[in-house]
Amino acid sequence: MSTVSAHCIFCDIVKGAAEVSVCYEDTEALAFMDIQPVNPGHTLVVARAHHESLEELPKALGAHLFGVALKLGPVIHKASHAEGMNLIVSSGAAAGQDVYHFHIHLIPRKKGDGFDVQLPFGRSDMPDRTMLDAMAARIISALRDPARAREEGGGKRGAKSGSRNAR
Ligand code: AMP
Ligand code: ZN
Repeated sequence: MSTVSAHCIFCDIVKGAAEVSVCYEDTEALAFMDIQPVNPGHTLVVARAHHESLEELPKALGAHLFGVALKLGPVIHKASHAEGMNLIVSSGAAAGQDVYHFHIHLIPRKKGDGFDVQLPFGRSDMPDRTMLDAMAARIISALRDPARAREEGGGKRGAKSGSRNAR
């Protein structure tokens, strides 16, 4: 578990030291209503333990949190009369994380609600297949040998990847 470097509102919530509307809890996780919902039913799934980001989150705990999100998703969809759902994780400042206690957003969506997470991203081009293959190879290499991949700054080392499907 990482140390709580600054005041953490989600740790306060877990400890019972802040106002919250809980919709699910177990020994490791808590889910509660976002205080500033995109739409009614906007829920956050958090671990009871403080871990700031995706990088710091133990894998088993992450799997548990996503399991909770998968359990709650269809229930929230129904309860909020949603037309769709977004599951969002913002990890790190560059990704727009505001509360540095890892959490999964479950956001019920309605057509025309004005919330924007548009993909594909209109400001990026489709790269050449060789670029996509090279990136896939870097990831494969890092999966095989994370320490070496860190040393090399993510460089290629013996990984094979290739196009599987025509785009
Ligand atoms: P993020 O940008 O992914 O870190 O999102 C943080 C989310 O936490 C935002 O949607 C906030 O509305 C929500 N939030 C912040 N404080 C509270 C709180 N006390 N109770 C419930 N939700 C909160
Ligand atoms: Zn915390």
